[in-house]
Amino acid sequence: MKIDIEPIVKMRGVSLNYHSLEGETLAISDINLDIYKGEFVSIIGPSGCGKSTLLSIISGLLQPTRGKVFVDKNHIGYMFQKDQLLPWRSILSNVLLGLEVQKKLTDENVAYAHSLLEKYGLGEFKKHKPAELSGGMRQRAALIRTLATHPKILLLDEPFSALDYQTRINVSGEVRDILEKEGVTSILVTHDIAEAITLSDRVVILSHRPATVKNIHKIDIECGEDFRRNSPLFPKYFEKIWEELK
Ligand code: ADP
Ligand code: MG
Repeated sequence: MKIDIEPIVKMRGVSLNYHSLEGETLAISDINLDIYKGEFVSIIGPSGCGKSTLLSIISGLLQPTRGKVFVDKNHIGYMFQKDQLLPWRSILSNVLLGLEVQKKLTDENVAYAHSLLEKYGLGEFKKHKPAELSGGMRQRAALIRTLATHPKILLLDEPFSALDYQTRINVSGEVRDILEKEGVTSILVTHDIAEAITLSDRVVILSHRPATVKNIHKIDIECGEDFRRNSPLFPKYFEKIWEELK
């Protein structure tokens, strides 16, 4: 995808302190990060370091204690580990739920939701219940529900971590392709170094809590899942990121 020179997310000196009865937890400390329109960026860091907190700050769910975030909060979508499809609703009515909640259930948007379902192989499953679909198809349905609302930025919080290894590789590649086709800037939080390298334009390494940006790697391997995994550069990136995460 063509990457813009204008950042779509800009973070300057962002810190976040959680206050609770037990005391204070500094989760994020002085993060500076720009993300550009059309990019796919992964954020990787140790468990509990503040990754989900960082996504909540970007989405506007949490206000930073210090620093500034520049982003258009009206056009952000979320994708989680759990697909969060309602079991009693059909795939179609699950997909329309996002539009319903946002009160954007116009004829045009409904037609767009149908076209996304057709385009991405769920056309025949509109009347099915989520339980009748595979884990990968359910994740695709959850993605389409978000895409139907026309997000410009998608925040993905470990959305593939509950899938088994083989499915994870297939589904993550599919999701990546769909997001590229639809022109959505994507920020993926993951534990999986290989996943980050295969999917991303850049990989941001976070430190232990409080999360700071430890390093940023631009992945200079030609795109395409198999191509990347089989590239001689792949193990080089892997080793480097592994070392930095220790
Ligand atoms: P990650 O997603 O990287 O695993 P989180 O962003 O969920 O980490 O959490 C970062 C740190 O902040 C953790 O130590 C967690 O216990 C703490 N934390 C998260 N949410 C809250 C909260 N609402 N109140 C207090 N502490 C929190
Ligand atoms: Mg998390």
